[in-house]
Amino acid sequence: MPVGGRVRGQVRLQGEVVSGYPEVPPEALRGEVRRITVVGDEVLRRRCRDVAEHEFGRPELARLIDDMFATMWVAEGAGLAANQIGVDLQAFVWDCFDDDGVRHLGHILNPVLDELPAGARRLVEAEEGCLSVPGPYAALARPDAAVVHGRDLDGRPLVVEGRGYFARCLQHEADHLGGGLYIDRLAARGRRAALRHMEERKAEVFAKRAARTEELATLR
Ligand code: ZN
Repeated sequence: MPVGGRVRGQVRLQGEVVSGYPEVPPEALRGEVRRITVVGDEVLRRRCRDVAEHEFGRPELARLIDDMFATMWVAEGAGLAANQIGVDLQAFVWDCFDDDGVRHLGHILNPVLDELPAGARRLVEAEEGCLSVPGPYAALARPDAAVVHGRDLDGRPLVVEGRGYFARCLQHEADHLGGGLYIDRLAARGRRAALRHMEERKAEVFAKRAARTEELATLR
């Protein structure tokens, strides 16, 4: 999911308040930029497999998270799911500002989105886009709060709560890991318009990503 507005304020890493975090996260500096899958790629259309118990704590998992951060930074993303770089695994990362200017960063494995009771849900409509549908944005209503339970790289339990744009991000990435895309939630007409706009704009988006890939290389 692409970024929202950027202002200086509180930072939360893995859900915990920290004193600050570099504009270019160290994970992104370590990681390799991978190709971002696009709508039509089969890996985006099935539920990703769970991270197995023996995989927690392994360097392969840490490298995957680094690669996801590098790829998200290059694409100016607020969130990225593993199947968006072609990896069939229940994992997503985020570097996302919420509506209060708090910057949230982190990763989560085997995430489960809490189902909010209907009475507790307040839907808000906002513009949403996706790195795998490069170019367009569309207005979409979603609950303005989200809670996700999962594990970190080392298998420690993790709970992440989001409001506003960050809640939207958590829901959007959870959708990805189930094989969904935000355009599935649009009416047919909106979906067709988004795909048409993608065809018109994707070359420009890819050119910008290529430029930022070069920029990231100079920062290492
Ligand atoms: Zn997306």
